[in-house]
Amino acid sequence: MPLANGREYLAIPGPSVMPDRVLQAMHRAAPNIYEGALPDMVDGMAPDLRMVAGTKHQVAIYIANGHGGWEAALANIAKPGDEVLALCTGRFAHGWADAAEQLGLKAHRVDFGRHGAVDVDAFAAALAADTEHKVRAVLVCHVDTASSVLNQIKPLREALDAAGHPALLCVDCIASLACDRFEMDAWGVDLMLTASQKGLMTPPGLAFVFFGPRAEEARKRATPSKYWDWTERSRPEWFYQYFGGTAPTHHLFALREALNMLKEEGMEAVWDRHTHLSAAVWAAVEAWGQGGPICCNIEDPKLRSHAVTAIGIGKENGTRLRRWLIENTGVTLGIGLGMATEDDPNSDGFFRIAHMGHVNAHMVLGALGAIETAMIALGIDHGRGGVEAAARVIASA
Ligand SMILES: *Cc1c(COP(=O)(O)O)cnc(C)c1O
Repeated sequence: MPLANGREYLAIPGPSVMPDRVLQAMHRAAPNIYEGALPDMVDGMAPDLRMVAGTKHQVAIYIANGHGGWEAALANIAKPGDEVLALCTGRFAHGWADAAEQLGLKAHRVDFGRHGAVDVDAFAAALAADTEHKVRAVLVCHVDTASSVLNQIKPLREALDAAGHPALLCVDCIASLACDRFEMDAWGVDLMLTASQKGLMTPPGLAFVFFGPRAEEARKRATPSKYWDWTERSRPEWFYQYFGGTAPTHHLFALREALNMLKEEGMEAVWDRHTHLSAAVWAAVEAWGQGGPICCNIEDPKLRSHAVTAIGIGKENGTRLRRWLIENTGVTLGIGLGMATEDDPNSDGFFRIAHMGHVNAHMVLGALGAIETAMIALGIDHGRGGVEAAARVIASA
C-alpha cells in the first residue's frame, strides 16, 4: 500500500526545499521595475548577501543558474588564452574547467579522485611547477555536490601565499553557502560564486559572484561582454543596471524573504543546525553499515559536507532504493552522480541525501526512517539501529 501522499520531502541537492514564507513572498502581481517596493528592496540586499558570504566586498547578481555563475566569474577575471588551475574532487570543478575551456581559457586540472579532498601538498607542488606564474586563477569547489566532500579553503590560501603565487583563489560555494561555514574575507578568498537554489532556499535562476580587490584588479585586463561585466551590476547608477536588463522580480522577493529567515536564525545557528543534522545522517549510515554494504562516500567526517551526503549502497541498490522511496514514502533522494565505474556505469550504487537549507530534525529523521524502511522492504542487508543512532545525535544536540 503506497503511503506517499502527504507533504513530500525533496531531499535532492538542489533545488532544495523552499520555505512557505519564500513561496508566499512570490505570490504577488508584477511590480514596477523603475520605482517603488522592488528597487527599494534590492538596494538593501547586498549587505545581507555579504553577511551570508562573510565578506565586505562587492557582489554582482546574474539571472542565471550556477553554470551561468561559472561563466560570469571567469569572464571578469580572464581573457582567452589565459590559464587556470582546477582542483577537482568529484564532478563540479571539472564542469567549471570545461566552462573555462569553452571560453577559450586553458584549464589545467589536478584530479584528487572522487572519494577525498584537495591535497594541499599536491596543490603546492602544482603551484611550484608554474614557475612563470601563468596560472591566473585557482578554481575549487568548497563542497563538491557529487562526492559530498568539504574542501578546506584556508590552507589553499596559505599555500598560495607560501609559494608567492599571484593566482586568484576562486571558490564555488553553490552547494555549501548557508550550510557549511564559509568566511570569504577571513579565509582570503578572492572570488566566490553561488546560486539561489540550495542553501539560499530560493528557486533556481539567480547566480551571485562576490569579488574582492584582487579580482577587481584582474577585471581590468579581462574582456567580459557588457552583459557579463560585473562593474555596473555591483555599483549601479540606476536600478536597471543591477541585472543588465529587467530584474528577476519574483526571485528577488523570494530571496529577500530567505535572507530574512537566515538573519532571524543567525548564521552561527544556521551552520550549527546543518552540523547536527548531517551528524545524524552519518550516525545512521554508520550503524546500517555494520551489517551491509552502505557507507558514506567520504570516509573522514572532517571532510564531509554538512549540506549533502553521498552514500554508497552496492551496485543497483541505490536506484532501487530511491525509486521505492518515491513511490512509497514521499521522500525523493538525490541520484548518485559522477561515481561511475566499469561495473556501475550509471552510478546506480550511490544515492545522496540533501540536508541543505530549509531542513530540520523531523525531516531528516523522517528521511532516515524511510530509508531504513526501504532497506527492509527491498531486502538490502543493513545493521540495526540506524534511526536510533540518528535520534541519539539529535537528542544530545
Ligand atoms: C549545483 C551545483 C552547480 C551547478 O549549478 P546549476 O545551478 O545546476 O548550474 C555547480 N557547482 C556546485 C558545487 C553545485 O552544487
